[in-house]
Amino acid sequence: MARKLTQIAIYGKGGIGKSTTTSNLSAALSVAGYKVMQFGCDPKNDSTNTLRNGQYIPTVLDTLREQNSVNTSEVVFEGFNGIYCVEAGGPAPGVGCAGRGIITAVQLFKQQHTFEELDLDYVIYDVLGDVVCGGFAMPIREGIAEHVFTVSSADFMAIYAANNLFKGIHKYSNNGGALLGGLIANSINQPYSKEIIDDFVKVTHTQVVEYIPRSVTVTQAELQGKTTIEEAPDSAQAGVYTALAAKIAAHTESQTPSPLEPGELREWAAKWGKQLLALESGEVQGLAERI
Ligand code: ADP
Ligand code: MG
Repeated sequence: MARKLTQIAIYGKGGIGKSTTTSNLSAALSVAGYKVMQFGCDPKNDSTNTLRNGQYIPTVLDTLREQNSVNTSEVVFEGFNGIYCVEAGGPAPGVGCAGRGIITAVQLFKQQHTFEELDLDYVIYDVLGDVVCGGFAMPIREGIAEHVFTVSSADFMAIYAANNLFKGIHKYSNNGGALLGGLIANSINQPYSKEIIDDFVKVTHTQVVEYIPRSVTVTQAELQGKTTIEEAPDSAQAGVYTALAAKIAAHTESQTPSPLEPGELREWAAKWGKQLLALESGEVQGLAERI
């Protein structure tokens, strides 16, 4: 019997840990027995590197520029544990919309019915989420992805980008757009980071799927060109990625988030600014001291 395909999009600010988290998620899902494709949608083209021993692969856009017609088998590369790796690619720097690559690449795969032919369980799009322009919004807008997850730390710019994504999801939610599965909290090592993220998901009516600590195991694995799941399968950090994969595999109901308006976000941030100052001065106790 054919597998049921679930398409997931992971968004977040540049450098926040999308590709690291996505690659470990793909690796953990694959180890659990699912057939997975990771679809890099960042003009950096490095989404799938740690699934392929640190190697770059030719992008869909570059291949299309070189040849008149492209068979998707020419742009799908095998990675760790049989994971299918694709990089959409982008235009030459400074020319055209960077989101263009996503539109073109996804259309090519649709035309050639590649997902059906490969009989996949998951396609996971790793999408740069700073700009929710036409191309970058495509996995949400056109009913391609069913569930969206955002990777965010407790840093304001990461939360700002997540809030912008929530606005995009909110906007397209009435027209068959993707809904939000939740937030993947990355680099959470301080109790106050967890408190900030917990408060943000509360006020925007969503949830934290998993808390991922910042870990030197991730750095070590990356320096070997590998995911943590491949390089250090018995580590605590691999356990966290495996738990994330299990939660995402069990996830069925996504929701429309309630993004904060610019003024509300400013106020929310200022409240936390005061709170952190009070924590620093010992005026109030942090979560760690209270429990
Ligand atoms: P993005 O895809 O969002 O641009 P990356 O996944 O490439 O970000 O991550 C940026 C850097 O942060 C990488 O060097 C990566 O190894 C590091 N990183 C991300 N998450 C973690 C983590 N939980 N622990 C340690 N390092 C991390
Ligand atoms: Mg990336």
